[in-house]
Amino acid sequence: MKKLFAVLGDPIGHSMSPIMLNDVLSYYEIDAHYHPFKVSPVELETAIRGLKAIGITGFNVTIPHKSAIIPFLDGVDDLALSIGAVNTVVNDNGKLIGYNTDGYGFIKGLEPYISSFSDKKVLVIGAGGAARAIYFTMAKMNPLAIDITNRTVIKAKELIEACPFESNSKALSLDEAEVHLNEYDVVIQTTMIGMYPKILETPISLRNLNTEALVCDIVYNPLETQFMKEARQKGAAVQNGVEMFVYQGALAFEKWTGIFPDVKRMRENVLRQLEA
Ligand code: NAP
Repeated sequence: MKKLFAVLGDPIGHSMSPIMLNDVLSYYEIDAHYHPFKVSPVELETAIRGLKAIGITGFNVTIPHKSAIIPFLDGVDDLALSIGAVNTVVNDNGKLIGYNTDGYGFIKGLEPYISSFSDKKVLVIGAGGAARAIYFTMAKMNPLAIDITNRTVIKAKELIEACPFESNSKALSLDEAEVHLNEYDVVIQTTMIGMYPKILETPISLRNLNTEALVCDIVYNPLETQFMKEARQKGAAVQNGVEMFVYQGALAFEKWTGIFPDVKRMRENVLRQLEA
């Protein structure tokens, strides 16, 4: 019988997951379809019950349901529970189990640059949902240090306090981060600055950037944010948010099918969608 996969969100029309994942489903000759469903917050519980009743194989959840879905699942893995957000659900013999592949997706995207974090000082800019997934997952990798800077510093402090994994971390104001920027080997921009309408803005000045650093921006539209452009012009290596998006999808696909898919194919698919 044809398998069903889905993504639930509101709005959902912009999602690149259906085209990206239907392509790899057919590439691996899996008789399945991945469908986007617009589900409003008040309908979320009903939608989950319906998907469970029809025996869905697996699904993704996106904004605004990543945290709200947790009480409606039969189980949630430890990392996703500590992050407080689920983006991937697997139907395990009738039980819906939630995972978070955002943080590992981000880290897998760094593999061409970084094999170990044990000698790396990392700066995360932003303390929202995406930063939380990245920070908690990266804290598990035992970096030398992983600091957070945020416009609202108290949120950075709260994130550090909430992390269940031991880490050498401090919360910094944006001004402090600018001054100490040369200390960091990896800088990860997780705010929406750089997206429309803030396309010419950066969250902090890159004046003191270590030119040997890797600078990542998890924004993928535009493909090169102002932050990345300035980092590249200073000689740093840069990466945009396409890698995180592709790898979170690849890890979800692997959980559902046991196959780690061809990420090059997925990346090309996403780039085609972004350029269309
Ligand atoms: P979020 O939970 O709303 O967090 C937003 C963060 O941005 C907060 O730290 C907020 O600071 C900061 N911020 C917002 N406006 C700012 C401003 N004008 N100046 C300084 N800081 C500002 O959002 P999110 O879910 O983490 O998403 C953040 C971005 O990541 C979005 O652009 C999203 O598209 C992208 N994203 C990409 C992927 C991927 O796969 N590549 C996955 C998830 C998210 P305060 O705490 O001070 O408000």
